[in-house]
Amino acid sequence: MDRTARLTLAVERQGGRCLWCGRLFGPLIPPTTDHLVPRLKGGPSIVANEAAACRRCNADRGHTGPVDWLAQSRRRHGWAPQATLLATLLNALDIELENVGGHRRARRYLSSQLRRCRSSH
Ligand SMILES: [Zn+2]
Repeated sequence: MDRTARLTLAVERQGGRCLWCGRLFGPLIPPTTDHLVPRLKGGPSIVANEAAACRRCNADRGHTGPVDWLAQSRRRHGWAPQATLLATLLNALDIELENVGGHRRARRYLSSQLRRCRSSH
């Protein structure tokens, strides 16, 4: 599956909205590929690790962890991030990485994010 097909899938999975600010994608708000586990932290370019984000959110987030960024988005900007969806995606990614094997660095990073995710509820 190429990059465009994966992005389309991510958009559909998120109900056509940015994962972080909840805005609907359209001609003025095009979706971009964001990585749940940042590539810098060893996150792979696979469907399970990719999310659709608007340009603004993608750029503002930088290499911030997904759970931390969700909390910041909510606090600082009063956005309406898709928290339940993020938890679902992170858990699915955890299972996927376990099945694929390897990706030790990404998995360690993801575990710590998931712990924070659970403790914040
Ligand atoms: Zn956004």
